Amino acid sequence: MNLLEKEDLIKIKAEELEGATPEEIIAWAVATFPNITFACSFGAEDVVLVDMLQKVSPSTDVFYLDTDYHFKETYETRDAIADRYGLEFVRVSPQITPEEQAAQYGEALWSVDPNQCCAIRKVEPLTRILSQYEAWITGIRRDQAPTRANSKKVEYDYKFGLVKFNPIADWTSEDVWNYIRENNLIYNPLHDRNFPSIGCEQCTRAVMPGEDPRAGRWSGSEKTECGLHK
Ligand code: SF4
Repeated sequence: MNLLEKEDLIKIKAEELEGATPEEIIAWAVATFPNITFACSFGAEDVVLVDMLQKVSPSTDVFYLDTDYHFKETYETRDAIADRYGLEFVRVSPQITPEEQAAQYGEALWSVDPNQCCAIRKVEPLTRILSQYEAWITGIRRDQAPTRANSKKVEYDYKFGLVKFNPIADWTSEDVWNYIRENNLIYNPLHDRNFPSIGCEQCTRAVMPGEDPRAGRWSGSEKTECGLHK
């Protein structure tokens, strides 16, 4: 399927899939684009999608970006989920180690230039892995941030050059947690310690009562996204 054909198909399906369940969207996505992958960050939304994928299409590749800077709880969550489902996550790592980064850019690049740090440890690895696929699935939700408010359940991702599925785009945080509880899913224990959104340890703090759920990400800077989603 060439780009024009994909764009036409997506326009038609975006309307149809808006009322579909996440499982129906995943089923259509994997049937239409067998060369598809899911990007997992082990956050609450993503453990829901891992569970759905295991039920709908267990052979679909699931990768994560290992920045080397995740919380130990995040790595433990990865291992517990892998054990439960017998799932092998594809680890995608940056081209340079933290030590090489410190030597080239100085210690704590994340505090001096977080965009550069994310470009090295997230955006380049994501670009590399997505170049191997024709479609990807994400756990983004519209109400997470203004930058995500217009996300469609299926859209063409011009930044990375492939089709993008956001099966739970219209879910609320409550929907996510209801699914986690009803299905007894493993989740990152940091969520119980006021970390609604979890990224690298250096750039994530707990939020205070009444704060925006993403206020703990790159707190004190104007940065709100890694550069993975438009
Ligand atoms: S979230 Fe922070 S530590 Fe992680 S890659 Fe981005 S700037 Fe670096």
